[in-house]
Amino acid sequence: MANAPDDLARDVALDPDDLPRTLLITLTGPDRPGVTASLSAALSAHEVEVLDVEQVVIRGRLTLGILIGPSASLEHGAVLVLDAAGRVASQVAGDLGMDVDVTLGAAEHDARRRGTLLVTVIGHPLLPAALSGLTRRISEQGGNIERIVRTASYPVTAVELTVTGADLTALRHALTQTSASLGIDVAVQRAGLRGRGTYLVVMDVDSTLIQDEVIELIARHAGCEDEVREITERAMRGELDFAASLHERVALLAGIEESVLDVVRRDVRMTPGARTLVRTLKRLGFRVAVVSGGFSAVVQPLADELGIDHARANVLEIVDGRLTGRVVGDVIDRAAKATALQEFAALDNIPLDRTIAIGDGANDLDMLSIAGLGIAFNAKPVVRAQADTGITVPFLDPVLYLLGITREEIEQADAEAGVATPSPPVR
Ligand SMILES: [Mg+2]
Repeated sequence: MANAPDDLARDVALDPDDLPRTLLITLTGPDRPGVTASLSAALSAHEVEVLDVEQVVIRGRLTLGILIGPSASLEHGAVLVLDAAGRVASQVAGDLGMDVDVTLGAAEHDARRRGTLLVTVIGHPLLPAALSGLTRRISEQGGNIERIVRTASYPVTAVELTVTGADLTALRHALTQTSASLGIDVAVQRAGLRGRGTYLVVMDVDSTLIQDEVIELIARHAGCEDEVREITERAMRGELDFAASLHERVALLAGIEESVLDVVRRDVRMTPGARTLVRTLKRLGFRVAVVSGGFSAVVQPLADELGIDHARANVLEIVDGRLTGRVVGDVIDRAAKATALQEFAALDNIPLDRTIAIGDGANDLDMLSIAGLGIAFNAKPVVRAQADTGITVPFLDPVLYLLGITREEIEQADAEAGVATPSPPVR
C-alpha cells in the first residue's frame, strides 16, 4: 500500500531535485488477457507519462513493470499525482487478482549517461551459479541490469542483459576474467551499434570455419604429418614467426601431386554450425569473408560453396602437376590477415567498428584487435586473453547470439528459404 500524500510530502527533502519524480509499478501473477490494457486505461486518467515498460511471461506467469513520471506539462504536485497513480494501480491489481509493488524513485538519471551495454551470456549448460557470479560482477562494476531476455535455447542457452551505469572497458575486463571460472562465454558490447547498416564478418579458416588444419591434411599424404603439426602448434602458440614457419612447413610438401589437393578438399570437416552461421548472416544482409594462413586451393572452393563474399589465402606453387614446396607471392601472416580485414571492409564500404573477426590462432590477433568485435573461437590461451570475447563451445552458430541474432530469427530465416533447421531437443 502506498503512503498517503501528506506523509510523502513531509518525508521528502525540500530541494526539488530530490523529490520523487518516478513511480515504478510492478504487477505479478498468472497471465491473463488485458492486464496491460486495464492498467494503462486506469493510469490514463492521471497526468502521468510512461517512461519505460517491460513485460515478460515465463510459463504462464506474468511480470509487468511500468515506470511512470508526471506529465511534462505538470508544474506542481508531482508527488501527489504519482501517489494517486500508485493507488489506482493497486486497485487494478486487486481487481485482477495480481500482486502489486509500487515504488517511488528519483528522476531517471544518470545511470544512462555512461551508455547502455549489452552483455551476452552463453552457457552449455547455463547454471544458476554462473548467473549469480556474473550478475554480482556486474553490480560490483556499478552496473544496473535493466532487462534480461533469452535469445537462444539451442544448441546453447544464450541470454542477453541490458546494463546501464557501467564502463564498457572495465566491465568487459571484469567479466572476461571470470567467465572461464563460471563456465560461460560472455561478450560485452555497446548497445545501439547493432541492428542498422551492414556488417562484415571475417573468419579464420583452419580450426575456425573448419575443424582441420589443411596443411596437416596435405602432409598426411606426404608422410610428414607429425613434423608439420609440431611446427604448426609452435606457430599458433606464438613461439615461432608465422611466415618462417609456413615456409618451413610448405618446404616439407615438395613433390606432392596436385591431385592430393582434391582429396584434401573432400576430407575437410566443416565446424558444426558453420553452414548455419554463414547462411544466416548472408540472409540477414551481412558481408562474410574468410582469410587464411592456409591455402587458396582449398579455401577458395569452400568459400564459393558457402557463398562467402571475399577470400584470401596463401597460394601453393605448382609446377608440372606437383607442389614445389614454395608459396607464390606474399605470405598471409598475422599482419596480412589484419590488412585483409581492412581491405575487405573498404571494398564493402563498412567502417571498422562494424566488423567482426573470428579466429583461434596467434596469427589472428591483429585482425581480432582491429575489428569492432574480436571473437576468440576455441582459441589458444594467448588469443583468448587478448580478444574482446570468446566462444568455448565447439560449434560456430553461437556467434550469431553474440551478434544479437536470436534462435527464432535463425529458424524464421530458414523457414522463409525453405531450409529445415535442425530441431532442438524437447525441453
Ligand atoms: Mg586457425
